[in-house]
Amino acid sequence: MPSAASVTAKAGCEAILEKALAGERLTEAEGLRLLTEAEFPSLGLAARRVADRLHPGGLVTFVVDRNINYSNVCTARCRFCAFHREPGAADAYVLSHDEILAKVDELAAIGGTQVLIQGGLHPDLPFDYYLGMVRAIRERYPQVAVHSFSAPEIQNFARLYGLPVRRVLEELKVAGLASLPGGGAEILVERVRRRVSPRKIGVGEWVEVMEAAAEVGLKATATMMFGHVETPAERVRHLAVIRDLQDRTRAAFADGQGVFRAFIPWSFQSANTRLPVARQATAYEYLRLVAVSRLFLDNVPNLQASWVTQGPHVGQLALAFGCNDMGGTMMEENVVRQAGAGFRMDRDGLVRLIRDAGYVPAQRSTAYEMVRVY
Ligand code: SF4
Repeated sequence: MPSAASVTAKAGCEAILEKALAGERLTEAEGLRLLTEAEFPSLGLAARRVADRLHPGGLVTFVVDRNINYSNVCTARCRFCAFHREPGAADAYVLSHDEILAKVDELAAIGGTQVLIQGGLHPDLPFDYYLGMVRAIRERYPQVAVHSFSAPEIQNFARLYGLPVRRVLEELKVAGLASLPGGGAEILVERVRRRVSPRKIGVGEWVEVMEAAAEVGLKATATMMFGHVETPAERVRHLAVIRDLQDRTRAAFADGQGVFRAFIPWSFQSANTRLPVARQATAYEYLRLVAVSRLFLDNVPNLQASWVTQGPHVGQLALAFGCNDMGGTMMEENVVRQAGAGFRMDRDGLVRLIRDAGYVPAQRSTAYEMVRVY
């Protein structure tokens, strides 16, 4: 027989779920209760209902994209990162513009529409390397959106070239940058950042980049890397930072939705990193976080499933827990792969995966406009 305390906790969580379903904003304390106490099926059902309301018709989207990591040279040495190399290391590399264009060419040949270019925080590449790269891609492949450079890279450019963040973004936008990915957010709590990436930007600097992006009219996505040293309360704090920022940047855009098009939580992969964890986050923890994200982030339109780290079947389950997007085909993903996540998928695979889960697959653009419904 359940204890009186567990009956009360269940009733409390049901009331919070009702509140979210009624369209009322959840407090951080309520988000934390759902994350830690809510019944698993009720949590998923509520999140799916919210997702259905936001994205009627059972459509689940994906983008045909490619990752390009232009350099693995990085001065930040984040403890969770298996990708970076010290300047001068035997296997350090920097791709030439020609090498990058050859990769974009392969993407364009299969009808891809987005390139996600990211690299380490290189200590001395000139700004023209980045501007010229973006310009060359836009000139040669106008159909491919350059969704590139995480907030730490933008802050690295500002520091290296002695420019305000806003000016860096303006110049990249003029060169052809379409939007910013949400990388480098990890957990937006200083205690956590000091432990996992002490040499990388803090919460304020990540937020500064996203606010400046909104000022210059660039949209972005927001990510969260969880399952390392953070507490459940810090996971919800991260969501609150994203939600506040989305509110604050609404006035900058005609769609009234703020700077973030999507939220993408993914679980830390520890292989080859200097951040030992007792165990990886389980699928159960991942799905709970996905559902709470959908219920808590009432102002972020899209929630992306992370099949790259969780595998295709948990990716399908994430749809039942509130996701409406499967992300990208991610041709040539290097960063997460080197930390142990080895899942791969092409366009046909994603279409099948979505259809088998009972939804209607649709290819989208970076701006979440429909390219083709399957
Ligand atoms: S996560 Fe990014 S910033 Fe950190 S060490 Fe790796 S490449 Fe550098």
